[in-house]
Amino acid sequence: MKGSSLYFEKLMLRSDLFRVKVLGISLAALAIFVNCSAPAAQVALPATATAPAVELALPTPAPTAVPSATPTRLPTLRPTATASPTFTPEPTATPEPTACACDIEQVVIISIDGLRPDALELAETPFLDALRAVGAYSDKAQTVLPSVTLVNHASMLSGVGPEKHQIIWNEINLSLGIIEVPTLFSLAHEAGLSTAMVVGKPKFEHLVIPGSVDDYYYAGFTDSQVVKQAVQVIEAGLPHLLFIHLPDVDSAGHLTGWMSPGQLAAIALTDSQVGKVVSALEANGELETSLLIITADHGGHDRLHGSDLPEDMTIPWLAVGPGIPAGMTIESDIVIYDTAATALHALGLTVPSSWDGRPVPDIFNDLPESSSSRKEGE
Ligand SMILES: [Zn+2]
Repeated sequence: MKGSSLYFEKLMLRSDLFRVKVLGISLAALAIFVNCSAPAAQVALPATATAPAVELALPTPAPTAVPSATPTRLPTLRPTATASPTFTPEPTATPEPTACACDIEQVVIISIDGLRPDALELAETPFLDALRAVGAYSDKAQTVLPSVTLVNHASMLSGVGPEKHQIIWNEINLSLGIIEVPTLFSLAHEAGLSTAMVVGKPKFEHLVIPGSVDDYYYAGFTDSQVVKQAVQVIEAGLPHLLFIHLPDVDSAGHLTGWMSPGQLAAIALTDSQVGKVVSALEANGELETSLLIITADHGGHDRLHGSDLPEDMTIPWLAVGPGIPAGMTIESDIVIYDTAATALHALGLTVPSSWDGRPVPDIFNDLPESSSSRKEGE
């Protein structure tokens, strides 16, 4: 297992173009696996993934790269808006929800701090594009107010809004205590499942109920540090539930502005870090058995966030995994706390009736009647 992983890593380092191709091929294989009823030709991955990679020549993501601090390293990166629609989700048929929790063994959540869905369209993101082509995606998911990291992640991981989880601050201050409602992690752990978190901001400690996370790492303040640690966790044995927090896109937004060339360059680098995580899963054969959710905590505008502006509130939400229709556009509304409910259901556990979140209904064909509609006024 280790040997093949190392071999794969070496291959990956040879060139970014090749990396894209490797991922494209493996994702194409996944597409066939997860949606064998659909014609594989629909996916057409390698073409979309390789084309932008050739032009951009993504820098090999050396472990020492600190993209957020040096956003001008890619000054020539132009927002090639025309390149992004290369993978238009198939509009011809509305896919039926086909995923069953019974086919999912692990859940991996990647939160890209501060990623706006419209920034994702402008940046060069061959890895995320390839994942979108084999997954279900919404560019209209909403976070909760105030649109800041700790409050929003508390909702993402606890299944409830701020009025219930009461994590209403955004800095690390352990005298304020830790979250007091059950979390995705505490429920999974109580059910006997293994859990891990690798984060790029120390304030996540407020979200860790003692005993609920088997392996918790604050890995450092950059994506590359986080991903290096996350890959080690995956290679040591993927837990049932893994959460990965990537901080660089938010850092770049505060430094050079949301949607600025500097932030778009940071998104391109984050994309390659996501590729490393996916490759580690693929190398261990776990990509085909995992539900991968890639989303964000909030967006941003100018050099800040926190308001109720759509730019701050709207987040991307992508799910890839066994049975999830390739290229699906998710039509139902998604709120950030639905991530916890979706993950919990995928792990085969019952979503508490007290939760505001619900499993995203477009994906699963095995949802109980009670969890397919959103509860109001609770
Ligand atoms: Zn921020």
